[in-house]
Amino acid sequence: MYEKKIEKALENVIIDNKNIIESGWIKKIDFSKNKIKIYLCLSNPAMHIKNKLIKEITHSIKNQNILDTICIKIEIKSDRKIKPVKNIIAIASGKGGVGKSTIATNIAVTLVQMGFHVGLLDADIYGPSIPLMFNIKEESIKLQHKNGIMNPITSYGVKILSIGFFSKYGQAIVWRGPMVTKVLRQFLHETNWGELDFLIVDLPPGTGDIHLSLLQEIPLKGIVMVSTSQKIALSDVNRSVGMFRIKSICVPILGIIENMSYVFSKKTQEKCFFFGKNGVKNFSKEMNLFFMGEIPMLQTIREYSDLGIPVVLKNEYIRNIFLEITKNMINQL
Ligand code: ADP
Repeated sequence: MYEKKIEKALENVIIDNKNIIESGWIKKIDFSKNKIKIYLCLSNPAMHIKNKLIKEITHSIKNQNILDTICIKIEIKSDRKIKPVKNIIAIASGKGGVGKSTIATNIAVTLVQMGFHVGLLDADIYGPSIPLMFNIKEESIKLQHKNGIMNPITSYGVKILSIGFFSKYGQAIVWRGPMVTKVLRQFLHETNWGELDFLIVDLPPGTGDIHLSLLQEIPLKGIVMVSTSQKIALSDVNRSVGMFRIKSICVPILGIIENMSYVFSKKTQEKCFFFGKNGVKNFSKEMNLFFMGEIPMLQTIREYSDLGIPVVLKNEYIRNIFLEITKNMINQL
């Protein structure tokens, strides 16, 4: 009886200049007494797109004044051929060089040690360092294509794809946004990831056009921010937090990690707060972000990074710190 009104309401929901009837996303609508169930199928059901759709569809139907106490249920599924990854989490920072890739690497390996199936997607076009951190040599990179589907490279139990696989050592990657988006789409949708519990994405630092394309392309569950404690790093993180919180992106930030928090004094073994004490912790309170933990600045972290061995496999003190941080990340999901 009110089918026509519902159709009209759905026509009023416009995403990417098309109404959602035209876009072919609506697969089925079930009507019962005072319940409407709408089933949609999208190729990229990113969390923010899902939320936006649910909000706009509900609002548009309620505007039609069909019934006072109508119950609307909306189910959105992916039409991707490849099995969806359960949790896609991005590691981000305001600045480069604060340890984002080191943290992405060691969180990924910690998740493997906890028994999860893990992938790592290195989307840092400005400095794709994941191949080095996992000791993946140029000559071993064969992303065998089968029917156009790529296979990631496995190292230390983590399935890895990196933008760095497409450039030779020392070669700059000068791609514009659409090219990056195209490659990422292939990484996400045309790659044989198998069953993954987690896909960790190493994002490029900063805010910009490329970030917007990345964030719109990747269906993220959340972001983990990384920063050091000095003002200069925090002012850039502030901008990144602002970007993740703008309405059209709106990805939940799971928390923030303070890297290079302290060094141990050689003489007394006391902690010295090189970049300032509690800078990130205080910032997290101000910005209403969950503080996920602190990682010291240790020579051994840098050394194992350079050797291409995730430090959590070699040092118990750091292994325990990453275990705490990773548990915090999972709890925040
Ligand atoms: P980003 O991804 O933010 O650019 P990286 O993870 O590449 O930063 O780290 C930059 C450098 O700092 C690397 O050489 C890395 O080994 C080193 N590094 C990162 N975190 C630490 C730490 N906690 N202690 C010592 N060295 C670190």
